[in-house]
Amino acid sequence: MNTVSECLPSEYLCRMSGQLGNDFDSFVKCMEQPCHKAFRLNRGKISSVEYTSMCRVVAGSDCEEVSWWPGAFYYDDAEPGKHPLHAAGAYYIQEPSAMLPVTMLDVNDSGQKVLDLCAAPGGKSTQIADLMCGRGLLVSNEIIPSRASVLSENMERMGAVNALVLNEEPAVLAERFPAFFDRILVDAPCSGEGMFRKNPEAANEWSPENVEMCAKRQDMLLDVASSMLAAGGKIVYSTCTFAPSEDEGAMERFLASHPEFEVADGPEHIYPHTHKGEGHFAVSFVRSAERDLTAGAAPWAMPDRSEGTDFAVESKNAVKADKYRGSNRKSLAPDKVQYALLCSFLEEALKPESDMLNMIINNKDRLTKFGDSLYLAPEYMPDLNGLKVYRAGLKLGTFAKNRFEPDHALAHALCSKDTVYAVDLDPNSREATQYLVGMTLPCDPSIKGWCLVCVSGLPLGWGKASGGTIKNHYPKGLRIK
Ligand code: SAM
Repeated sequence: MNTVSECLPSEYLCRMSGQLGNDFDSFVKCMEQPCHKAFRLNRGKISSVEYTSMCRVVAGSDCEEVSWWPGAFYYDDAEPGKHPLHAAGAYYIQEPSAMLPVTMLDVNDSGQKVLDLCAAPGGKSTQIADLMCGRGLLVSNEIIPSRASVLSENMERMGAVNALVLNEEPAVLAERFPAFFDRILVDAPCSGEGMFRKNPEAANEWSPENVEMCAKRQDMLLDVASSMLAAGGKIVYSTCTFAPSEDEGAMERFLASHPEFEVADGPEHIYPHTHKGEGHFAVSFVRSAERDLTAGAAPWAMPDRSEGTDFAVESKNAVKADKYRGSNRKSLAPDKVQYALLCSFLEEALKPESDMLNMIINNKDRLTKFGDSLYLAPEYMPDLNGLKVYRAGLKLGTFAKNRFEPDHALAHALCSKDTVYAVDLDPNSREATQYLVGMTLPCDPSIKGWCLVCVSGLPLGWGKASGGTIKNHYPKGLRIK
């Protein structure tokens, strides 16, 4: 059987030998070692005191922490993607090196406006959401519809409350958001050399021509991103390749054509022979605050709350792909009757001290209806008119005949302490798996109404209790087959 390095294109190896010099031999040796796998705990859902027990359940007793992201841990033989705690959004499985770029973006919970331009499947967007703690606005964009759908599901599972998911060409966003964002991540599509150990087939697509094509596309993405950045803002550009005409090449071309930017952090490379991770590159640029920006009026505004506005030009795929999104295109505030239905659900299902309940009640002006679906829009909600939208904030639920049905996305933004009724299951129990398959669960006959089905206090989804049985409301599309 061939070794990984024997399968790699000779032109690529020759270039790497020149690039790495004396380190080349250890790089090649390292390509024969197994790749490193990690999961990143969702700090929004898990407090640091629960870290240790959570890790033990998922990956064994002595798992090692990823040094550049506290709360991320390596694993070997475990299958964390199949564990009920994964369905509960307790963690995100992410290649350890891929956690680096967000550390350079300088995101916090002060209410920033952040764009993740190339966001699917969502590793870095969910990391950003974690740091934003529900404040401000996160716009996660993905150009390929099927990937935007996966992105949307991942944002939902991780309980992001302040995120929009869009499926747009970068140039369309640039027209809509001039000088708007405080932070922009350009985790660019690239020649993927850093992933050849993890995914050796990717090397079949490698060619010098493809490297050059990727480099040109990265120039375009950085150029577009720069027009959307506010004065004083920061861009992080990252790839999972080692090609110098992408990485440092794109960085130098960008700085030469954008004198208003300078490097803030980096550039940094992660190589498999120097770190416990696959290959990654990242650099951050800061835009000087002094430059006179010729931006127009802020493009964000709440949707017209009187007559309704055109919501989104939805591609056929967008409608098919997003199972939870309302298809009606008008955005409106809920009327009085609907608001009363929402309130009676909140009163029945959530405890008065629940943060989510208070967030909804205190931000009534951010309640936005698309068709029968009700969303809680993030702060600084932009005008979405004409954009392809997969997620317009946190979907709270749907108005049906004289009642309000809570959405799965809302379940993920809660925990067992928030709800009046919660069934807290052992994550390793048969009941937890039964719920994820779609079966009913037994319960105390005195319980009636909506209850949150949880593992270790974290939400799997909704159930509705009546007569000693909990009817399963876990979305059909997510059920274990
Ligand atoms: N940031 C993601 C994460 O952490 O999960 C990974 C992003 S991946 C490296 C690059 C993404 O860019 C892919 O999902 C790809 O579909 C998307 N993409 C491809 N061409 C693009 C373009 N012209 N403009 C914007 N995004 C593009």
